[in-house]
Amino acid sequence: MTLRCAYCHAEDAPLIACAACGTRVHPACRAAHGRCPTLGCHEPRCARVDRPLAPWARRAVRWLLRY
Ligand SMILES: [Zn+2]
Ligand SMILES: [Zn+2]
Repeated sequence: MTLRCAYCHAEDAPLIACAACGTRVHPACRAAHGRCPTLGCHEPRCARVDRPLAPWARRAVRWLLRY
């Protein structure tokens, strides 16, 4: 099973998972959307990381986790 970003549907980048429903998104897409893209899920945090993140992505995750 290939994991895709639920927001932009690209596959080839580190993804983070919604803390509530597990939906995968890019840190940058998550920041752009403001919350989980899954309908009915209003989890504001995405904490679980599937792969080691690039430095820019780590900064994005830290930014997200401030909420
Ligand atoms: Zn994306
Ligand atoms: Zn969610």
